[in-house]
Amino acid sequence: MKYKRILLKLSGEALSGTKGYGIDPKVLLQYSEEIKKVIQAGTQVAIVIGGGNIFRGIEAQQAGIDRVQGDYMGMLATVINAMALQGALEKVGLYTRVMSGIRMEQVCEPFIRRRAVRHLEKGRVVIFGAGIGNPYFTTDSTASLRAIEIEADVVLKGTRVDGVYSADPEKDKTATRYSTISFDDVYKMGLNVMDMTAFTLCKENKLPIIVFDMNKSNNLYKLVQGEQVGTLISMD
Ligand code: UDP
Repeated sequence: MKYKRILLKLSGEALSGTKGYGIDPKVLLQYSEEIKKVIQAGTQVAIVIGGGNIFRGIEAQQAGIDRVQGDYMGMLATVINAMALQGALEKVGLYTRVMSGIRMEQVCEPFIRRRAVRHLEKGRVVIFGAGIGNPYFTTDSTASLRAIEIEADVVLKGTRVDGVYSADPEKDKTATRYSTISFDDVYKMGLNVMDMTAFTLCKENKLPIIVFDMNKSNNLYKLVQGEQVGTLISMD
């Protein structure tokens, strides 16, 4: 296996499948099976899951809810998703822990870096819920930060698009996909990979990012094995 420890970022929206809102159990099961393959191959898996299928702080603001209040609501939404994913992962026979950026002992453990690493070493899937526990951040930033903290080899951003394109492939037919691209070129071309906080954290810590299509069966496994899937963003 090329990668020994990965941080997988999944968006909340992906969990809603074709429904467009809430949580689709079929997607949960599909993702769990994909994650099981890499765990069985010996790779350690940490996951950050978004909350966009339930709540986003920025949308709350548009609806007249205070931004900070909305952000905390968004963080709680990610815990709901984390618990849903935990249940699905356990159903396929994996051992898991949810660790939260906001203390809620009855539901899950608080995030403690050394404990997270220990869980990973024991082969448990660790899901980081509640973001980093602070408003004005995103779950992409959480993914970058946690990946650095646990010394993951790579951040894998699972999306419904199969990589980084020169333009939005859903709008522009001439858009081409990069198989590799440097952090600097992403900046220069103004490509949308992650929000800038998340992206800069990865760049400054030389932590590569791979953007790939999580909905395609075996993609995660291939990637972890070292096959070229999606777009690799790195220093060179
Ligand atoms: N959020 C936050 N701090 C964090 C992580 C998340 O305030 O560290 C809030 C923020 O309001 C965000 C929401 O939680 O909009 C859900 O996360 P995100 O939008 O990143 O989810 P995704 O787009 O990946 O589904």
